[in-house]
Amino acid sequence: MKHSLRKLAYISGLLPFYHGIRNQRALTVVLFHRVLPEDAPEWQAADPEWTVTTSFFESCLKFFRSHYNGVSFSQVMANHLDGEALPPNPLLITFDDGWNCNLRHAAPLLRKYHLPALLFVTTGAVGKHILSWQEALFALWKTRTLDEEHLQSLSKKAGIKLPASLKSEQDFEQLLTLLQELPVARRRPLDDLLMDWSMDLPGLPYMLNENELMEIQDHGISLGTHGVSHDAFVQTDSPHDELHLSWKDLCRITGNSTPVQCFSPPQGQYNKNILEIAENLGYVCACTSKTALNALNGRNTGILDLGRINIEQPALSDQNGKLDPSRLASLLFRQPILAA
Ligand SMILES: [Zn+2]
Repeated sequence: MKHSLRKLAYISGLLPFYHGIRNQRALTVVLFHRVLPEDAPEWQAADPEWTVTTSFFESCLKFFRSHYNGVSFSQVMANHLDGEALPPNPLLITFDDGWNCNLRHAAPLLRKYHLPALLFVTTGAVGKHILSWQEALFALWKTRTLDEEHLQSLSKKAGIKLPASLKSEQDFEQLLTLLQELPVARRRPLDDLLMDWSMDLPGLPYMLNENELMEIQDHGISLGTHGVSHDAFVQTDSPHDELHLSWKDLCRITGNSTPVQCFSPPQGQYNKNILEIAENLGYVCACTSKTALNALNGRNTGILDLGRINIEQPALSDQNGKLDPSRLASLLFRQPILAA
């Protein structure tokens, strides 16, 4: 939709009116990753595609309060398993990965606006300084820490030719692709190198530790799993282990024997086989990156495959970096509604 037309449709109330009726029974699930104050040192190493400022996040929450009814994961489950009704225009807020900024900066705002949420924890990263080798690689590149010597060491360990220097974004993308294509077992030794080199990034540590995972639940945030290693399930040798061991880890950390019922596949990659494995392990719900709203039929059959919409600040901001509500409305209100 054209910018002026979109603005008019939103401000006139036409688009919100359409949403109120069309999406009354559709569950909207939104996805965030990191939430950082504008002046946080972590920004120097953070990926703006997966990070929002606290003020942008607060504007999103105000928007959600105006157009939705926030629901908790247990409400979604009660609907799915027992057919309990959800309020009209229900919205579930989710976070992936397990960043400690979720407790420091997102949780107080969620509490302020009385909005529950669901957080997917990469259990292998709990208490670690950074999420994964990909994050470490990105952060080292962004902070200009990766020099030719580093690249030579990586190349030697990987046994393949890698770019000799990283002059452009394309060089970085090429390096990332080459490493991603390596079989997981061959790439593992590189993970350790990258993790070691990233020990001096600004604002560390970035990930939630075990105590913080306990604390975050007091803010109305439920926990689900996001695998152990953050490798895409479809690429790992054993997606079963990733799903099973992350579940066990989370039960141990929280001291809660209540089964973890929900997971989100790392990097959004999943297929029918992954859903089957999860279902056999006892998972009831998957929050994926299928961009759609969800029609819930309240029937207790099969695993719930919930589509989610990623909230990216650059695409939803005006020239000043502030949330443009008409863009967010346009992104969320007109998505296809698929059977979950
Ligand atoms: Zn993730």
